[in-house]
Amino acid sequence: MSVFSEYKDCIAEGDLVLVWISRDNIKPIKVDSNEVFNTRYGSFPHEMMIGKPYGSQIAIRTKGTNKFAFIHVLQPTPELWTLSLPHRTQIVYTPDSSYIMERLNCSPRTRAVEAGTGSGSFSHAFARTVGHLYSYEFHQPRYEEALREFKEHGLVDIDKNVTITHRDVCRDGFRIRNGDVTSHLFGENETEVAVGADVVFLDLPAPWDAIPHLEDVISKDEKVGLCCFSPCIEQVDKTIEVLNRYGWSDLQMVEIQGKQFESRRQMVRTLDDAIERLRDVKRRKNEGLERRKRMCDSLLNDQPEADETVEKRPITEKTKFNPFGKGARVKEGDANYKWKQVTKVEPEIKSHTSYLTFAFKVANQIRNEEAIQRILESSES
Ligand code: SAM
Repeated sequence: MSVFSEYKDCIAEGDLVLVWISRDNIKPIKVDSNEVFNTRYGSFPHEMMIGKPYGSQIAIRTKGTNKFAFIHVLQPTPELWTLSLPHRTQIVYTPDSSYIMERLNCSPRTRAVEAGTGSGSFSHAFARTVGHLYSYEFHQPRYEEALREFKEHGLVDIDKNVTITHRDVCRDGFRIRNGDVTSHLFGENETEVAVGADVVFLDLPAPWDAIPHLEDVISKDEKVGLCCFSPCIEQVDKTIEVLNRYGWSDLQMVEIQGKQFESRRQMVRTLDDAIERLRDVKRRKNEGLERRKRMCDSLLNDQPEADETVEKRPITEKTKFNPFGKGARVKEGDANYKWKQVTKVEPEIKSHTSYLTFAFKVANQIRNEEAIQRILESSES
C-alpha cells in the first residue's frame, strides 16, 4: 500500500514524514535516527520523532533563551505533498486537482491517463483516488526522478496502481508496448498494456498534438472525460478546434481561483472610542506644539547645552489609550479590548491559474447490457 493512502498511528524509522514549520514551509524528510532536521529556529534530532503519534508537536529549547521552537510531524497526504514536494516543473495545486477529479467523476473504478508527469503533484492525488493511473513524461531526468519517487512512495511495481512511461505523447502516442521504457512489468505473453482509459488529463504545452493519439487508449464502452490544463487562451482555442474535429462533445472551459480564507479577530470600535481617540490626538498635538515652542525659545535665548535645558519628550497617553491598535501595539485578542471574529481573504491567488477545458466522448453509443449487469453486480457485492 502507498504511504499516501495507508493510515499509521506512530512514526517509525524510515517513514516519510512531512514536517510542518509554517503554513508556507512544509518539508518532507525520511526518518533516520542518525539524522537531525535543521531549521532557522533550531535543530530537531529525528530520534525525537520515532514512536510519536503522527500530528505531534516536537519542541526543543532554543539555544541561550528560555523559549521553545517547535514543529509538527505530519502523515503524508497528496494535499500536503503538493505543498512540500521538490518542484521540477510548474505543478497543479489542490484547488484545481480536486475540482478536476470531481468533474471527471474519478473513483476506484477509473483508469486515468495523465501527460506529462512533471513533478508528480497531480499523480499523487490521482493515485489515491483512481483504480489505475498511466502517467507519461518525455523529459528523461524528470521521468527517472518521478519513477524513483513513485517507487519510494509505494505507487509503482506489482499490484500498485501507477504506471509511468518515458514518452513524447505528441509524437508517439499513448500505447504501451513490450520493449518501451516503462514501469509496467510485462507478463510472458503480454505484448501491449490494455489501457482502456475513461479519464484523460493533459498538462502539456501542445495538447492538440496529443489528442488525436488518444483514440488508441480510451475506453470504447464508457463515457470518457478529458481535461486540458493550459495557461493561455490561445492554447484553449487550438485545443477546442481539435477536440471538435475528433468527436469530443460537451466542451466547457473553467478557471479556478483558489484563495485562502483566514479566521481573525478584529477590535470592536464604538463611537465613544472614536471620540476619545480624536481627543487623544488633539491633546498630543497641543503638547507637541508647546514642547516645540519651548525648544525654540531656549535656543533663541542662547541657553547652554540643549540636552540639559530642553525637556525630554514626555511619555504621553499614546501608549496607554489606543482603541484602534495604531501606534501602540495591541496584541490580537488582548483581553483589555473587545474583539469580534472576522474572515480575511488573502489577496493573492494560490493556485497556478490555468484554463481547464473539459470535454467528453462516448465512442460506442449502443447500450452494453452485459457490461451494465457486471457493474451492477460488482457494486452490489
Ligand atoms: N501536472 C504536473 C504536476 O502536477 O506536477 C506538471 C506537468 S508540467 C507543467 C508539464 C510536463 O509535461 C513537463 O514535465 C514536460 O516535460 C512534460 N511534457 C511536455 N511535452 C510532453 C510530451 N509531448 N510528452 C510527454 N511529456 C511532455
